[in-house]
Amino acid sequence: MARYTGPVCRLCRRDGAKLFLKGTRCDSPKCAFERRNTPPGQQQSARRNKQTDYGIQLREKQKVKHYYGILEKQFRLYFDKAERAKGNTGDVLLSLLERRLDNVVHRLGFGSSRSAARQLVRHGHVTLNGHKCTIGSAQVRAGDVVRVKNKLRSLDIVRAAQADTGGKNVPDFLSITESQVPEGIVGRLPGPEDVSLPIDTQLIIELCSR
Ligand code: SF4
Repeated sequence: MARYTGPVCRLCRRDGAKLFLKGTRCDSPKCAFERRNTPPGQQQSARRNKQTDYGIQLREKQKVKHYYGILEKQFRLYFDKAERAKGNTGDVLLSLLERRLDNVVHRLGFGSSRSAARQLVRHGHVTLNGHKCTIGSAQVRAGDVVRVKNKLRSLDIVRAAQADTGGKNVPDFLSITESQVPEGIVGRLPGPEDVSLPIDTQLIIELCSR
């Protein structure tokens, strides 16, 4: 599974938006974007003023890729799927991305960032409908149950993340039940209103349909 392993704060500065890629640090005064809201590299602030239509569309697409932690090939597969599906392509695209298991684990507050949530999934700390699932890109459906494994190590990691995030992330389409182990239920399929980052999908569609 390929993924970006470089400095993530650069991505926020490059995309001109807070992408919340570093968990609790993002809400602290240490956030690099809060301290220096300019593109990385020398003399980039001057260049930002000269953005072309293509540049604006590309930036919007990159923002979504960075936010969900996926690379170009995966993104294109999501876009193709959204184009083939019934309904508004932009809405379907966001729904597909929001339905990723690693995203759901993060939105439930089990992982402080999407990359931490992806690692939780990869290392087998969560189950999907009672079965082990180590694929971060697995798509959840309405009624699915995402549960933390009833193992001391898994519970320790998730409780620490929950203490950090304070459960503030949980969107409407998910609900948490606190029994012996933390458990989340997908109440309905997510829509564009459930995405916490403002995204202009029209720009992405214009770019990807060229
Ligand atoms: Fe982005 Fe978080 Fe880094 Fe701030 S701390 S620049 S929001 S990744």
